[in-house]
Amino acid sequence: MIRAVHYVRRHLVWKLLVSYLIVILVGIIVLISAVEYFMPSAFERHLAAMATAMQTVSPALAEDLFTNFRRAMNESLIFSLVAAFLVAVIASTVISRRIVMPVRRMMMASQRIAEGHYHERVELPGTHDPDNLDELGCLAISFNQMATQLERIETTRRELIGDVAHELRTPLTTIKGYLEGLMDGVIPADISTFQRIYHETERLQRLIQDLQDLSRVESGAIEMHPQPISVTQLINTAVARLSHQFEEKGVQLATSLPEHLPAVWADEARIGQVLLNLLGNALQYTPPGGHVLVSAQQRGAEVHITVTDTGIGISAEHLPLIFTRFYRVDRSRSRASGGSGIGLTIARHLVEAHGGRIWAESAGPGKGSTFTFTLPVAS
Ligand code: ADP
Repeated sequence: MIRAVHYVRRHLVWKLLVSYLIVILVGIIVLISAVEYFMPSAFERHLAAMATAMQTVSPALAEDLFTNFRRAMNESLIFSLVAAFLVAVIASTVISRRIVMPVRRMMMASQRIAEGHYHERVELPGTHDPDNLDELGCLAISFNQMATQLERIETTRRELIGDVAHELRTPLTTIKGYLEGLMDGVIPADISTFQRIYHETERLQRLIQDLQDLSRVESGAIEMHPQPISVTQLINTAVARLSHQFEEKGVQLATSLPEHLPAVWADEARIGQVLLNLLGNALQYTPPGGHVLVSAQQRGAEVHITVTDTGIGISAEHLPLIFTRFYRVDRSRSRASGGSGIGLTIARHLVEAHGGRIWAESAGPGKGSTFTFTLPVAS
């Protein structure tokens, strides 16, 4: 008995069945009690009416009539009760299964996900139209969304570990190579060797800083202090900071700003970082003699800030990918120049955290690139 109770407790289908049976049992008890209570008086009332109509009914006949009526009544009651009981049990079993099966499927899927099978999904019942789904259907949809999200996070985590290891390995291998050469006496211990080692350590340091920034922006842990800021001032500050480097490389840097630009709602330091990143890239990927133009204009409730260069350009197949972390169009060229492919990912997160968008356009390799991001006008 205790084992049976334990079994029922652990299975939803049995719990539902038992609860249906209790409801059926209570119904039967109420029906029998009602018949027992009302039937004799109702019969007597009808017999009395019959007696008036038929002039006389002997007590023995009345007694006999009552007994036979009761017997017939009990027989039909028992028959209908058994039929009702069987039909109710079958119906409740079918209904319980319909409720329990999706729950069981979800339970099995969640167990598979817990074991690390992140591609597991729950089959949706019948219709996929959200308006026609019951609570269990909606639960299945939410479950699948959660599983997709988990799978995405897991893939990102795996890729990130692989990418970070890969990025760290290159400068570390170079440093190790130099140090081994120094120890073996094959590389001279002169200033240029130490400068190269120093350069590689700087790359490592920059990479670690970028990774830290990336992890902060991706987790949304970065603190923002937005306030109304002047776009003209923002652009002029960034241009002033990099003008020397542009001059050194022989790339012309110019701005084109309308007289009246509304203030934007942004964190000055973070958006300054985005602009410096775009200008830094424009400088890096534009050969000497090229031009870089920074412009801005209002479009409705947004201000569009654009950095256009006449540099190496980006082919159409790479354009949608350059905002993905660690993505570099030309891995060897970027590595040589110290790029880790994180800058644009950080920029995208920062712009999106302001409620803006960022995108790149290019007519193709050798035809320059245009990067645009939007910021909301401060109301
Ligand atoms: P990186 O540190 O490598 O520059 P980013 O995330 O800033 O990383 O850029 C990703 C890739 O996008 C770069 O490696 C480069 O291939 C491409 N890219 C970015 N800006 C430009 C540009 N102005 N012109 C051409 N290619 C660019």
